[in-house]
Amino acid sequence: MDRFKALVVDKVDEKMEMEVKEIGFEDLSEGEVTIKVAYSSVNYKDGMVAVKGDLAEKLPLVPGIDLAGTVIASEDTRFKEGDEVIATSYFIGTRHTGGFSEVARIPAEWIVPLPEGLTMDESMKLGTAGFTAALCIQRLEDNGLTPDKGRVLVDGASGGVGSIAVNMLYDRGYEVVASTGRTEEAEYLKSLGASKVIHRDEVTDFRGRATRTRQWAAAIDPVGGKTLQYILSSLDYGGSVATCGLAGGVEVQTTVLPFISRNINWLGIDSVKHPMEHRLKVWDRLADDMKPSALETDISHEITLEDLPDTLQNILKGKIRGRIIVKM
Ligand code: NDP
Repeated sequence: MDRFKALVVDKVDEKMEMEVKEIGFEDLSEGEVTIKVAYSSVNYKDGMVAVKGDLAEKLPLVPGIDLAGTVIASEDTRFKEGDEVIATSYFIGTRHTGGFSEVARIPAEWIVPLPEGLTMDESMKLGTAGFTAALCIQRLEDNGLTPDKGRVLVDGASGGVGSIAVNMLYDRGYEVVASTGRTEEAEYLKSLGASKVIHRDEVTDFRGRATRTRQWAAAIDPVGGKTLQYILSSLDYGGSVATCGLAGGVEVQTTVLPFISRNINWLGIDSVKHPMEHRLKVWDRLADDMKPSALETDISHEITLEDLPDTLQNILKGKIRGRIIVKM
């Protein structure tokens, strides 16, 4: 297999372009482990890299921050030919050639052995989105969240992180309220476990209020911006929000009032540089007590490399429901 297919993005005349083409090993970034990729997945960040070039640290580049596959060669004793592995985050698909390729070459220290209890396609149905949802829930629970504390809000609920978070929380016994701009997805969100689906305008801070009626024991927030403003002003006493995304904006205006009068916690979540020791533990939980029950449902669908250019445009427009996995 000297030549193989990959999606390559590049800037031509100041415009980002992408194309599926044949490349060779000389086009891959350096790394000790060569992997025959079985599946990749599509995340919001891939759209930012491929469509906008925003997070692409080198060009041309094979994007794709997630991949699962089988080791075909390894110069590191931790991995051998035939091992099934997952690689997500770090500089994969931003500075280092990534998962939208039939073959990837990845530094050994970025690789996670596929945990027992997960198949390769399940690992990509989860991907960075599922890993991030698990980080959010674990962090909220580390800060005292239990199902008896009250309702948990998940915004951006029809997207990848949101859909998985709704389902994982439901599986763990929480009452989940899902906020979405696409109320036509209400039945889908209820099928994942949302007890109530609300329009995102109901949790958007249009008026800049410091505090409002307390409504949530906790929230998982892939949206940010004015939605996060609303959440900070409406968390219950001692409540927490896990901030993980910026799909709705990066600027947040708040005051000290909910912090000093309601004892709330604003928790930041980063999957990219997350330490390997804890990363391995979270993947083990994703294969076990945090494995979402909806993995076998239409929370995800499968595409090919050729479908990626349209899909990457659509994820930035908020048009993708749940998770998309790419079968090589
Ligand atoms: P998706 O596109 O799958 O989901 C994002 C969802 O946000 C959309 O489906 C939509 O949900 C909602 N949304 C989109 N645009 C807007 C808007 N303008 N205003 C309000 N809501 C909007 O992306 P992912 O799930 O892959 O990622 C979500 C976010 O989390 C991204 O910002 C991503 O960069 C970030 N992220 C961060 C990680 C970390 O390590 N911190 C890791 C993974 C993701 P709906 O239609 O239901 O309203």
